[in-house]
Amino acid sequence: MSNRAKTQPAADANAARRVKQLVRPEFRELTPYSVTDAGGMVKLDAMENPYSWSEDMRAEWLARLRDTPLNRYPDPQATELKGRIRESEGLKRDQPLVLGNGSDELIQLLSTVFARPGAAVLSVTPSFVMYWRCAVASGVEFVEVPLERESFALDAEATLAAVKHRQPSLVFFAYPNNPTGNLFDPDAMAALVREARGLVVIDEAYAPFAGDTWIARWQEFDNVVVMRTLSKLGLAGLRLGYLVGASDWTDQLEKLRLPYNINVLTQRSAAFALEQREVFIRQCDEICSQREALTTALAAIDGVRVWPSRANFLLFRATAVGAQSIYDGLKLRKVLVKNLNGTDPALEQCLRVTVGTVDENAAFMAALEQTIAKTGV
Ligand SMILES: *Cc1c(COP(=O)(O)O)cnc(C)c1O
Repeated sequence: MSNRAKTQPAADANAARRVKQLVRPEFRELTPYSVTDAGGMVKLDAMENPYSWSEDMRAEWLARLRDTPLNRYPDPQATELKGRIRESEGLKRDQPLVLGNGSDELIQLLSTVFARPGAAVLSVTPSFVMYWRCAVASGVEFVEVPLERESFALDAEATLAAVKHRQPSLVFFAYPNNPTGNLFDPDAMAALVREARGLVVIDEAYAPFAGDTWIARWQEFDNVVVMRTLSKLGLAGLRLGYLVGASDWTDQLEKLRLPYNINVLTQRSAAFALEQREVFIRQCDEICSQREALTTALAAIDGVRVWPSRANFLLFRATAVGAQSIYDGLKLRKVLVKNLNGTDPALEQCLRVTVGTVDENAAFMAALEQTIAKTGV
């Protein structure tokens, strides 16, 4: 046996002891964000747009990338891309924007900027896990207020009380909410904004499917910013999120944002894609009509409850069979969804399915019916 092999266990134990001394307990308890391997599956677990591009569009995109100088750093201000974003959102020409490597990165930036002793981040539960993960990682307290049982509406009274009592530095609302798919009452949200001394972040990741937005009204308040992403629109692989807000807020984020966080391929590809925005809008409209068809089909199954959705996914509960059996049965039949059972008391026996193409949705429904027939009572 080599010397190195002999000393390894002792070295490991020493490293573990050092980590224990050096890293905060709450941080040590975190586990990395895990994603299930979807090889060979109908992938309905991650709210991706299922459609591909036409050959013409692909050729035009590749032509645009051909002379991209990979030896040079990207434009740290992403000037061209920001112009396209403002144009496609109908924002004013000098509207401050902060770009992130996905809106996940913006959540991380926000959590870090507002981390100071005694600070708190507030959101509702169940909601997007990244709010919690980034708060814990930044060493700030995370306060969560349960949504109303079954309807998943904002509990206006309890949330207002929590905001008044704790006065969090940051409040996150996903609009529509993930994983419940609903929009919160905008009047209740506005009342919370007025009560909050901190910054309220409205996360509109599902804006292309929602039919409602805060992008036109955040300026009524001095403590609201809106966050968007290209991921659910159809560009999850590019990793581009953006935050719209007053310069007092965006200036703080810009100090922390790493200068080249948006790589040159993403800058060029996203600018190109936004020029083709109608293509994506048409795809998202199709997803919305498939969402309604899938809602009806799910509601027709005995022992399944489905919630109405303003996003590109559906939350459903399998009361008779149980979520784990449904998940396993679907996986066996090569359909991947998300099992939410155990993630929040309000999501008992719940699963989340992304709305896919007509064929993918049919494959999901067939697999679900087979699973229920096999395991059902
Ligand atoms: C998917 C999702 C995001 C993350 O989007 P990326 O831009 O891909 O990082 C943010 N917020 C919510 C609510 C989401 O569901």
